[in-house]
Amino acid sequence: MDFFKQDFTIEKYHLGLKEKKYSVVEAIGEFLNYAKKENEKIGAFLRFNEKESLQRASELDKNLDEGLKKDSLFGIPMGIKDNILISEQKATAASKILENYIASYDATVISKLKSSGALFLGKTNLDEFAMGSSTENSAFQLTRNPRDLSRVSGGSSGGSAAAVAANMVLGSLGTDTGGSIRQPAGFCGVVGLKPTYGAVSRYGAVALASSLDQIGPFAKTVKDAAKIFKTISGHDNLDSTSSDINYSEVDDFKNVDVKKMVIGIPKEYMIDGMSEEVKKSFDDAVGKMKRDGFNIKEISLPNTKYALSCYYIILPAEASANLARYDGLRYSKPEDLKNEDFKLIETYFKNRGAAIGDEPRRRILLGTFVLSSGYYDAYYAKAQKVRRLILDDFLKSFDKSSGGVDAIIAPVTPTTAFKIGEKTDDPLSMYLSDIFTIPVNLAGLPALSLPTKKYSDKNLPVNFQIIGKHFDEKNILALGNYYENNLSEN
Ligand code: GLN
Repeated sequence: MDFFKQDFTIEKYHLGLKEKKYSVVEAIGEFLNYAKKENEKIGAFLRFNEKESLQRASELDKNLDEGLKKDSLFGIPMGIKDNILISEQKATAASKILENYIASYDATVISKLKSSGALFLGKTNLDEFAMGSSTENSAFQLTRNPRDLSRVSGGSSGGSAAAVAANMVLGSLGTDTGGSIRQPAGFCGVVGLKPTYGAVSRYGAVALASSLDQIGPFAKTVKDAAKIFKTISGHDNLDSTSSDINYSEVDDFKNVDVKKMVIGIPKEYMIDGMSEEVKKSFDDAVGKMKRDGFNIKEISLPNTKYALSCYYIILPAEASANLARYDGLRYSKPEDLKNEDFKLIETYFKNRGAAIGDEPRRRILLGTFVLSSGYYDAYYAKAQKVRRLILDDFLKSFDKSSGGVDAIIAPVTPTTAFKIGEKTDDPLSMYLSDIFTIPVNLAGLPALSLPTKKYSDKNLPVNFQIIGKHFDEKNILALGNYYENNLSEN
Protein backbone atom coordinates (compact mmCIF):
# COMPACT_ATOMS: atom_id res chain seq x y z
CA MET A 1 0.00 0.00 0.00
CA ASP A 2 1.12 3.56 -0.73
CA PHE A 3 -0.25 4.90 2.57
CA PHE A 4 3.16 5.62 4.00
CA LYS A 5 4.67 7.60 1.16
CA GLN A 6 5.36 11.28 1.25
CA ASP A 7 3.05 12.01 -1.69
CA PHE A 8 0.09 10.08 -0.27
CA THR A 9 -2.52 12.79 0.28
CA ILE A 10 -6.13 13.03 1.44
CA GLU A 11 -7.26 12.99 -2.18
CA LYS A 12 -5.38 9.76 -2.89
CA TYR A 13 -6.74 8.20 0.27
CA HIS A 14 -10.29 9.05 -0.76
CA LEU A 15 -9.71 7.69 -4.26
CA GLY A 16 -8.66 4.34 -2.81
CA LEU A 17 -11.79 4.27 -0.64
CA LYS A 18 -13.97 5.09 -3.65
CA GLU A 19 -12.38 2.37 -5.70
CA LYS A 20 -12.92 -0.03 -2.78
CA LYS A 21 -9.21 -0.83 -2.58
CA TYR A 22 -9.61 -0.80 1.21
CA SER A 23 -12.23 -0.03 3.81
CA VAL A 24 -11.80 2.67 6.44
CA VAL A 25 -11.27 -0.03 9.09
CA GLU A 26 -8.56 -1.70 7.03
CA ALA A 27 -6.82 1.58 6.32
CA ILE A 28 -6.99 2.80 9.91
CA GLY A 29 -5.75 -0.59 11.15
CA GLU A 30 -2.72 -0.25 8.91
CA PHE A 31 -2.09 3.35 9.88
CA LEU A 32 -2.25 2.42 13.56
CA ASN A 33 0.20 -0.46 13.17
CA TYR A 34 2.61 1.66 11.19
CA ALA A 35 2.33 4.64 13.54
CA LYS A 36 2.87 2.51 16.65
CA LYS A 37 5.98 0.97 15.13
CA GLU A 38 7.45 4.27 13.91
CA ASN A 39 6.59 5.93 17.18
CA GLU A 40 9.08 3.73 19.01
CA LYS A 41 11.92 5.60 17.38
CA ILE A 42 10.30 9.01 16.83
CA GLY A 43 8.12 9.56 19.89
CA ALA A 44 5.58 11.76 18.11
CA PHE A 45 2.57 10.32 19.95
CA LEU A 46 2.16 10.36 23.71
CA ARG A 47 -0.58 7.75 23.43
CA PHE A 48 -2.77 6.05 20.88
CA ASN A 49 -6.50 5.72 20.86
CA GLU A 50 -6.76 2.43 19.07
CA LYS A 51 -10.10 1.08 20.19
CA GLU A 52 -12.15 4.17 19.59
CA SER A 53 -10.60 5.01 16.23
CA LEU A 54 -11.26 1.49 14.93
CA GLN A 55 -14.78 1.59 16.28
CA ARG A 56 -15.50 4.91 14.59
CA ALA A 57 -13.85 3.63 11.41
CA SER A 58 -16.29 0.73 11.26
CA GLU A 59 -19.21 3.13 11.70
CA LEU A 60 -17.89 5.21 8.80
CA ASP A 61 -17.67 2.11 6.62
CA LYS A 62 -21.42 1.62 6.98
CA ASN A 63 -21.99 4.94 5.30
CA LEU A 64 -19.06 5.03 2.94
CA ASP A 65 -20.52 6.29 -0.33
CA GLU A 66 -22.62 8.99 1.29
CA GLY A 67 -19.80 10.08 3.58
CA LEU A 68 -17.26 10.33 0.78
CA LYS A 69 -19.61 12.58 -1.14
CA LYS A 70 -20.26 15.01 1.65
CA ASP A 71 -17.39 15.00 4.13
CA SER A 72 -14.07 16.41 3.07
CA LEU A 73 -12.13 14.67 5.83
CA PHE A 74 -14.04 11.40 5.72
CA GLY A 75 -12.05 8.62 7.40
CA ILE A 76 -8.75 10.46 7.45
CA PRO A 77 -6.29 9.53 10.21
CA MET A 78 -5.14 12.51 12.27
CA GLY A 79 -3.00 13.28 15.30
CA ILE A 80 -4.10 15.86 17.87
CA LYS A 81 -1.74 17.92 20.00
CA ASP A 82 -2.20 16.96 23.63
CA ASN A 83 -3.28 20.47 24.66
CA ILE A 84 -6.54 20.10 22.69
CA LEU A 85 -9.41 18.32 24.42
CA ILE A 86 -11.04 15.15 23.12
CA SER A 87 -13.87 13.99 25.35
CA GLU A 88 -13.02 11.04 27.62
CA GLN A 89 -9.36 11.12 26.67
CA LYS A 90 -6.39 12.43 28.56
CA ALA A 91 -5.19 15.94 27.76
CA THR A 92 -1.94 16.57 29.61
CA ALA A 93 -0.41 19.51 27.73
CA ALA A 94 2.75 17.43 28.36
CA SER A 95 2.79 18.58 31.97
CA LYS A 96 2.89 16.50 35.14
CA ILE A 97 0.37 18.87 36.63
CA LEU A 98 -2.25 17.53 34.17
CA GLU A 99 -0.89 13.98 34.03
CA ASN A 100 -4.20 12.41 35.04
CA TYR A 101 -6.62 14.91 33.58
CA ILE A 102 -9.31 13.35 31.40
CA ALA A 103 -11.31 15.78 29.28
CA SER A 104 -15.05 15.83 29.88
CA TYR A 105 -15.90 17.51 26.58
CA ASP A 106 -14.69 17.99 23.01
CA ALA A 107 -12.90 21.15 21.90
CA THR A 108 -14.91 22.87 19.17
CA VAL A 109 -12.28 21.95 16.57
CA ILE A 110 -12.66 18.31 17.61
CA SER A 111 -16.47 18.35 17.30
CA LYS A 112 -16.09 19.87 13.85
CA LEU A 113 -13.50 17.32 12.76
CA LYS A 114 -15.62 14.48 14.14
CA SER A 115 -18.65 15.58 12.19
CA SER A 116 -16.62 15.77 9.01
CA GLY A 117 -15.51 12.16 9.53
CA ALA A 118 -11.90 12.61 10.67
CA LEU A 119 -10.41 9.97 12.98
CA PHE A 120 -7.94 10.60 15.76
CA LEU A 121 -5.24 7.97 16.07
CA GLY A 122 -3.93 9.54 19.24
CA LYS A 123 -2.56 12.56 21.06
CA THR A 124 0.77 14.08 20.09
CA ASN A 125 3.68 15.34 22.14
CA LEU A 126 4.50 19.01 22.78
CA ASP A 127 6.62 21.24 24.95
CA GLU A 128 5.02 21.54 28.39
CA PHE A 129 2.06 23.93 28.05
CA ALA A 130 3.29 24.69 24.51
CA MET A 131 6.28 26.60 25.86
CA GLY A 132 9.31 25.84 23.77
CA SER A 133 10.76 25.37 20.33
CA SER A 134 12.02 21.80 20.34
CA THR A 135 9.51 19.59 22.23
CA GLU A 136 12.37 18.85 24.64
CA ASN A 137 10.37 20.59 27.37
CA SER A 138 7.75 17.81 27.40
CA ALA A 139 7.54 16.30 30.88
CA PHE A 140 7.09 12.85 29.33
CA GLN A 141 9.23 12.12 26.29
CA LEU A 142 11.38 13.33 23.45
CA THR A 143 10.11 13.67 19.88
CA ARG A 144 12.84 13.09 17.34
CA ASN A 145 12.91 14.64 13.89
CA PRO A 146 11.90 11.96 11.36
CA ARG A 147 14.30 13.48 8.79
CA ASP A 148 17.27 13.05 11.13
CA LEU A 149 16.79 11.24 14.42
CA SER A 150 19.64 13.08 16.12
CA ARG A 151 17.78 16.36 15.75
CA VAL A 152 14.77 17.99 17.37
CA SER A 153 11.40 18.06 15.67
CA GLY A 154 10.88 21.71 16.59
CA GLY A 155 8.20 22.94 18.91
CA SER A 156 6.02 23.32 20.58
CA SER A 157 3.85 21.16 18.28
CA GLY A 158 6.79 18.84 17.51
CA GLY A 159 4.72 15.66 17.84
CA SER A 160 2.08 16.82 15.37
CA ALA A 161 4.69 17.90 12.81
CA ALA A 162 6.73 14.70 13.19
CA ALA A 163 3.63 12.49 12.90
CA VAL A 164 2.83 13.99 9.49
CA ALA A 165 6.46 14.02 8.33
CA ALA A 166 6.82 10.33 9.27
CA ASN A 167 3.62 9.49 7.35
CA MET A 168 1.91 8.18 10.49
CA VAL A 169 -1.14 10.35 9.74
CA LEU A 170 -2.47 12.46 6.87
CA GLY A 171 -2.96 15.55 8.97
CA SER A 172 -2.73 16.86 12.50
CA LEU A 173 -3.58 19.81 14.70
CA GLY A 174 -1.20 22.07 16.54
CA THR A 175 -1.34 25.42 18.26
CA ASP A 176 0.69 28.48 17.34
CA THR A 177 1.23 31.20 19.93
CA GLY A 178 4.66 32.34 18.75
CA GLY A 179 5.52 29.92 15.97
CA SER A 180 4.60 26.50 17.30
CA ILE A 181 3.01 25.33 14.05
CA ARG A 182 5.24 27.05 11.51
CA GLN A 183 8.59 26.29 13.16
CA PRO A 184 8.14 22.50 13.65
CA ALA A 185 6.57 22.30 10.16
CA GLY A 186 9.82 23.86 8.94
CA PHE A 187 12.11 21.59 10.94
CA CYS A 188 10.26 18.50 9.71
CA GLY A 189 9.56 19.68 6.14
CA VAL A 190 5.76 19.62 6.12
CA VAL A 191 3.05 22.25 5.60
CA GLY A 192 1.65 24.18 8.59
CA LEU A 193 -0.88 26.98 8.78
CA LYS A 194 -1.17 29.54 11.56
CA PRO A 195 -4.62 31.05 11.01
CA THR A 196 -5.61 34.67 11.67
CA TYR A 197 -6.28 35.36 15.34
CA GLY A 198 -9.98 34.62 15.72
CA ALA A 199 -10.36 32.41 12.64
CA VAL A 200 -10.55 29.19 14.66
CA SER A 201 -12.31 28.67 17.99
CA ARG A 202 -9.97 27.96 20.92
CA TYR A 203 -12.73 26.51 23.07
CA GLY A 204 -11.25 23.36 24.55
CA ALA A 205 -7.61 24.24 23.94
CA VAL A 206 -5.38 24.58 26.99
CA ALA A 207 -4.70 28.32 27.08
CA LEU A 208 -1.13 29.58 26.96
CA ALA A 209 -1.38 33.27 26.01
CA SER A 210 -4.95 34.12 25.15
CA SER A 211 -4.25 37.15 22.97
CA LEU A 212 -1.89 35.11 20.77
CA ASP A 213 -3.03 31.45 20.69
CA GLN A 214 -4.45 29.91 17.53
CA ILE A 215 -5.16 26.31 16.53
CA GLY A 216 -4.13 25.26 13.04
CA PRO A 217 -3.39 22.28 10.78
CA PHE A 218 -0.33 20.36 9.64
CA ALA A 219 -0.53 18.39 6.41
CA LYS A 220 1.58 17.03 3.58
CA THR A 221 0.27 19.53 1.04
CA VAL A 222 -1.15 23.03 1.05
CA LYS A 223 -4.42 21.71 -0.35
CA ASP A 224 -4.78 19.24 2.52
CA ALA A 225 -3.97 21.92 5.10
CA ALA A 226 -6.64 24.12 3.49
CA LYS A 227 -9.20 21.31 3.79
CA ILE A 228 -8.52 20.87 7.48
CA PHE A 229 -8.53 24.61 8.06
CA LYS A 230 -11.88 24.95 6.27
CA THR A 231 -13.37 22.33 8.58
CA ILE A 232 -12.14 23.78 11.88
CA SER A 233 -12.65 27.50 11.18
CA GLY A 234 -15.65 29.69 11.83
CA HIS A 235 -17.53 31.46 14.57
CA ASP A 236 -18.24 29.66 17.83
CA ASN A 237 -20.50 30.93 20.58
CA LEU A 238 -18.18 29.28 23.07
CA ASP A 239 -15.23 31.47 22.08
CA SER A 240 -16.05 35.16 22.04
CA THR A 241 -12.82 35.96 20.18
CA SER A 242 -13.86 33.86 17.17
CA SER A 243 -14.96 35.69 14.03
CA ASP A 244 -17.74 34.86 11.62
CA ILE A 245 -15.75 35.01 8.41
CA ASN A 246 -17.06 32.76 5.67
CA TYR A 247 -14.32 30.30 4.78
CA SER A 248 -16.52 27.90 2.80
CA GLU A 249 -14.40 28.38 -0.34
CA VAL A 250 -11.02 28.78 1.26
CA ASP A 251 -9.70 25.60 -0.40
CA ASP A 252 -10.90 26.52 -3.87
CA PHE A 253 -8.01 28.24 -5.59
CA LYS A 254 -9.38 28.33 -9.13
CA ASN A 255 -10.36 31.97 -9.17
CA VAL A 256 -7.25 33.33 -7.46
CA ASP A 257 -4.79 34.86 -9.89
CA VAL A 258 -1.65 34.46 -7.81
CA LYS A 259 0.54 36.15 -10.42
CA LYS A 260 -1.32 39.37 -9.79
CA MET A 261 -0.21 39.40 -6.18
CA VAL A 262 2.51 41.83 -5.21
CA ILE A 263 4.86 40.17 -2.75
CA GLY A 264 7.07 41.83 -0.18
CA ILE A 265 10.26 40.64 1.50
CA PRO A 266 11.02 42.45 4.76
CA LYS A 267 14.64 43.57 4.79
CA GLU A 268 14.72 43.30 8.61
CA TYR A 269 14.40 39.50 8.33
CA MET A 270 17.71 39.13 6.50
CA ILE A 271 19.73 38.99 9.73
CA ASP A 272 23.37 38.05 10.25
CA GLY A 273 22.52 35.09 12.46
CA MET A 274 20.79 33.27 9.62
CA SER A 275 22.50 30.05 8.58
CA GLU A 276 23.90 29.66 5.06
CA GLU A 277 21.55 26.74 4.38
CA VAL A 278 18.44 28.73 5.22
CA LYS A 279 19.62 31.81 3.39
CA LYS A 280 20.43 29.85 0.26
CA SER A 281 17.13 27.96 0.24
CA PHE A 282 15.16 31.15 0.77
CA ASP A 283 17.09 33.00 -1.95
CA ASP A 284 16.54 30.04 -4.32
CA ALA A 285 12.80 30.14 -3.66
CA VAL A 286 12.67 33.88 -4.31
CA GLY A 287 14.76 33.46 -7.47
CA LYS A 288 12.40 30.81 -8.79
CA MET A 289 9.38 33.01 -8.10
CA LYS A 290 10.98 35.97 -9.84
CA ARG A 291 11.91 33.94 -12.91
CA ASP A 292 8.35 32.68 -12.99
CA GLY A 293 7.11 36.26 -13.27
CA PHE A 294 6.15 37.19 -9.71
CA ASN A 295 6.32 40.82 -8.70
CA ILE A 296 8.52 40.79 -5.60
CA LYS A 297 9.85 43.84 -3.82
CA GLU A 298 11.69 44.75 -0.67
CA ILE A 299 9.64 46.19 2.19
CA SER A 300 10.47 47.42 5.66
CA LEU A 301 9.00 46.37 9.01
CA PRO A 302 11.15 48.65 11.17
CA ASN A 303 9.87 47.52 14.57
CA THR A 304 10.73 43.85 13.99
CA LYS A 305 13.75 44.21 16.28
CA TYR A 306 11.46 44.71 19.29
CA ALA A 307 9.22 41.70 18.62
CA LEU A 308 11.08 39.10 20.67
CA SER A 309 11.36 41.25 23.80
CA CYS A 310 7.77 42.38 23.43
CA TYR A 311 6.59 38.75 23.13
CA TYR A 312 8.59 37.66 26.18
CA ILE A 313 6.70 40.20 28.28
CA ILE A 314 3.20 39.66 26.91
CA LEU A 315 3.37 35.87 26.74
CA PRO A 316 4.65 35.27 30.30
CA ALA A 317 2.15 37.81 31.64
CA GLU A 318 -0.79 36.02 30.06
CA ALA A 319 0.63 32.58 30.77
CA SER A 320 1.12 33.35 34.46
CA ALA A 321 -2.56 34.29 34.66
CA ASN A 322 -3.72 31.24 32.67
CA LEU A 323 -1.58 28.78 34.61
CA ALA A 324 -2.74 30.09 37.97
CA ARG A 325 -5.74 27.76 37.73
CA TYR A 326 -3.66 24.60 38.17
CA ASP A 327 -3.30 23.81 41.83
CA GLY A 328 -1.17 20.69 41.55
CA LEU A 329 -3.65 18.72 43.65
CA ARG A 330 -6.28 17.46 41.26
CA TYR A 331 -4.58 15.84 38.30
CA SER A 332 -1.00 15.18 39.34
CA LYS A 333 0.32 13.04 42.17
CA PRO A 334 -0.11 15.24 45.21
CA GLU A 335 1.67 14.50 48.46
CA ASP A 336 0.81 15.45 52.01
CA LEU A 337 -2.93 15.45 51.58
CA LYS A 338 -3.42 12.87 54.27
CA ASN A 339 -0.89 14.18 56.78
CA GLU A 340 -2.06 15.03 60.25
CA ASP A 341 -0.47 18.46 60.12
CA PHE A 342 -1.86 19.28 56.68
CA LYS A 343 -1.44 22.97 55.92
CA LEU A 344 -3.32 24.24 52.91
CA ILE A 345 -1.01 26.95 51.58
CA GLU A 346 2.19 24.95 52.11
CA THR A 347 0.59 21.98 50.40
CA TYR A 348 -0.32 24.08 47.39
CA PHE A 349 3.17 25.52 47.11
CA LYS A 350 4.81 22.15 47.39
CA ASN A 351 2.62 20.27 44.96
CA ARG A 352 2.34 23.00 42.39
CA GLY A 353 6.09 23.48 42.50
CA ALA A 354 6.78 19.76 42.10
CA ALA A 355 4.48 19.31 39.12
CA ILE A 356 5.57 22.26 36.97
CA GLY A 357 8.70 22.08 34.80
CA ASP A 358 11.50 24.62 34.49
CA GLU A 359 10.23 26.51 31.45
CA PRO A 360 6.67 27.17 32.72
CA ARG A 361 8.17 28.07 36.08
CA ARG A 362 10.53 30.57 34.44
CA ARG A 363 7.64 32.16 32.56
CA ILE A 364 5.28 32.26 35.55
CA LEU A 365 7.98 34.09 37.51
CA LEU A 366 8.61 36.53 34.67
CA GLY A 367 4.92 37.08 34.07
CA THR A 368 4.11 37.69 37.68
CA PHE A 369 6.94 40.18 37.83
CA VAL A 370 5.94 42.21 34.77
CA LEU A 371 2.35 42.39 36.00
CA SER A 372 3.23 43.42 39.54
CA SER A 373 2.23 46.87 40.67
CA GLY A 374 5.04 49.32 40.14
CA TYR A 375 6.34 47.39 37.13
CA TYR A 376 3.14 47.02 35.16
CA ASP A 377 3.51 50.32 33.28
CA ALA A 378 7.22 49.94 32.71
CA TYR A 379 6.89 46.46 31.19
CA TYR A 380 3.45 45.19 30.37
CA ALA A 381 1.80 48.45 29.31
CA LYS A 382 4.88 49.40 27.30
CA ALA A 383 4.97 46.02 25.56
CA GLN A 384 1.35 46.52 24.52
CA LYS A 385 2.31 49.80 22.87
CA VAL A 386 5.21 48.18 21.06
CA ARG A 387 2.87 45.42 19.93
CA ARG A 388 0.70 48.06 18.30
CA LEU A 389 3.72 49.47 16.43
CA ILE A 390 4.56 45.99 15.13
CA LEU A 391 0.98 45.59 13.89
CA ASP A 392 1.09 49.04 12.28
CA ASP A 393 4.24 48.09 10.35
CA PHE A 394 2.36 45.19 8.79
CA LEU A 395 -0.80 47.19 8.12
CA LYS A 396 1.23 49.88 6.41
CA SER A 397 2.96 47.31 4.18
CA PHE A 398 -0.39 45.83 3.20
CA ASP A 399 -2.00 49.21 2.52
CA LYS A 400 -2.91 49.19 -1.17
CA SER A 401 -3.61 52.92 -1.26
CA SER A 402 0.06 53.60 -0.75
CA GLY A 403 1.53 50.93 -2.99
CA GLY A 404 1.36 48.12 -0.46
CA VAL A 405 1.85 44.39 -1.04
CA ASP A 406 -0.67 41.51 -1.03
CA ALA A 407 1.51 39.06 0.86
CA ILE A 408 4.88 38.90 2.56
CA ILE A 409 7.36 36.08 2.27
CA ALA A 410 10.09 35.39 4.81
CA PRO A 411 12.14 32.56 6.28
CA VAL A 412 10.49 30.62 9.14
CA THR A 413 13.58 30.04 11.26
CA PRO A 414 17.17 31.28 11.21
CA THR A 415 18.54 27.70 11.15
CA THR A 416 17.50 24.18 10.21
CA ALA A 417 16.57 21.66 12.94
CA PHE A 418 19.23 21.71 15.64
CA LYS A 419 20.72 18.76 17.50
CA ILE A 420 18.90 17.27 20.46
CA GLY A 421 20.30 18.87 23.63
CA GLU A 422 22.05 21.68 21.75
CA LYS A 423 20.00 24.50 23.25
CA THR A 424 18.44 23.03 26.38
CA ASP A 425 20.82 24.86 28.73
CA ASP A 426 20.47 28.17 26.97
CA PRO A 427 16.87 29.42 26.99
CA LEU A 428 17.80 32.65 25.21
CA SER A 429 19.22 30.89 22.17
CA MET A 430 16.09 28.70 22.16
CA TYR A 431 13.93 31.85 22.20
CA LEU A 432 15.90 33.25 19.26
CA SER A 433 14.73 30.42 17.03
CA ASP A 434 11.30 32.12 16.96
CA ILE A 435 12.53 35.48 15.79
CA PHE A 436 10.75 35.27 12.40
CA THR A 437 7.51 33.72 13.61
CA ILE A 438 6.68 35.84 16.66
CA PRO A 439 5.86 39.17 14.90
CA VAL A 440 3.02 37.42 13.03
CA ASN A 441 1.35 36.33 16.29
CA LEU A 442 1.77 39.77 17.83
CA ALA A 443 -0.02 41.22 14.78
CA GLY A 444 -2.66 38.44 14.71
CA LEU A 445 -1.98 37.66 11.04
CA PRO A 446 -2.26 34.36 9.17
CA ALA A 447 0.90 32.68 7.88
CA LEU A 448 1.54 29.52 5.93
CA SER A 449 4.78 27.59 6.43
CA LEU A 450 5.76 25.41 3.48
CA PRO A 451 8.87 23.65 2.17
CA THR A 452 11.10 25.63 -0.20
CA LYS A 453 11.54 22.38 -2.08
CA LYS A 454 10.24 18.83 -1.92
CA TYR A 455 12.03 16.88 0.76
CA SER A 456 14.79 14.54 -0.28
CA ASP A 457 17.22 12.94 2.11
CA LYS A 458 20.20 14.99 0.88
CA ASN A 459 19.47 18.02 3.07
CA LEU A 460 17.51 18.99 6.11
CA PRO A 461 14.20 20.63 5.24
CA VAL A 462 13.88 24.41 5.00
CA ASN A 463 10.49 26.13 4.95
CA PHE A 464 9.50 29.67 4.13
CA GLN A 465 6.36 31.45 5.26
CA ILE A 466 3.74 33.41 3.36
CA ILE A 467 2.21 36.03 5.63
CA GLY A 468 -1.19 37.44 4.66
CA LYS A 469 -3.58 40.17 5.65
CA HIS A 470 -6.06 39.43 8.42
CA PHE A 471 -8.52 36.72 7.31
CA ASP A 472 -6.81 36.44 3.93
CA GLU A 473 -6.02 32.72 4.29
CA LYS A 474 -7.42 31.97 0.87
CA ASN A 475 -4.85 34.06 -0.97
CA ILE A 476 -1.84 32.81 0.96
CA LEU A 477 -3.02 29.22 0.58
CA ALA A 478 -3.56 29.74 -3.16
CA LEU A 479 -0.07 31.19 -3.50
CA GLY A 480 1.40 28.33 -1.46
CA ASN A 481 -0.48 25.80 -3.53
CA TYR A 482 0.84 27.36 -6.74
CA TYR A 483 4.41 27.35 -5.41
CA GLU A 484 4.15 23.75 -4.24
CA ASN A 485 2.80 22.51 -7.58
CA ASN A 486 4.98 24.56 -9.90
CA LEU A 487 8.16 25.68 -8.18
CA SER A 488 9.02 23.24 -5.40
CA GLU A 489 10.78 20.63 -7.54
CA ASN A 490 14.51 20.57 -6.92
N1 GLN B 1 8.47 28.71 20.88
C1 GLN B 1 7.62 29.77 21.31
C2 GLN B 1 7.59 29.82 22.80
O1 GLN B 1 8.30 29.12 23.39
C3 GLN B 1 6.27 29.57 20.72
C4 GLN B 1 5.35 28.73 21.50
C5 GLN B 1 4.04 28.49 20.84
O2 GLN B 1 3.77 28.98 19.75
N2 GLN B 1 3.19 27.77 21.53
O3 GLN B 1 6.86 30.56 23.39
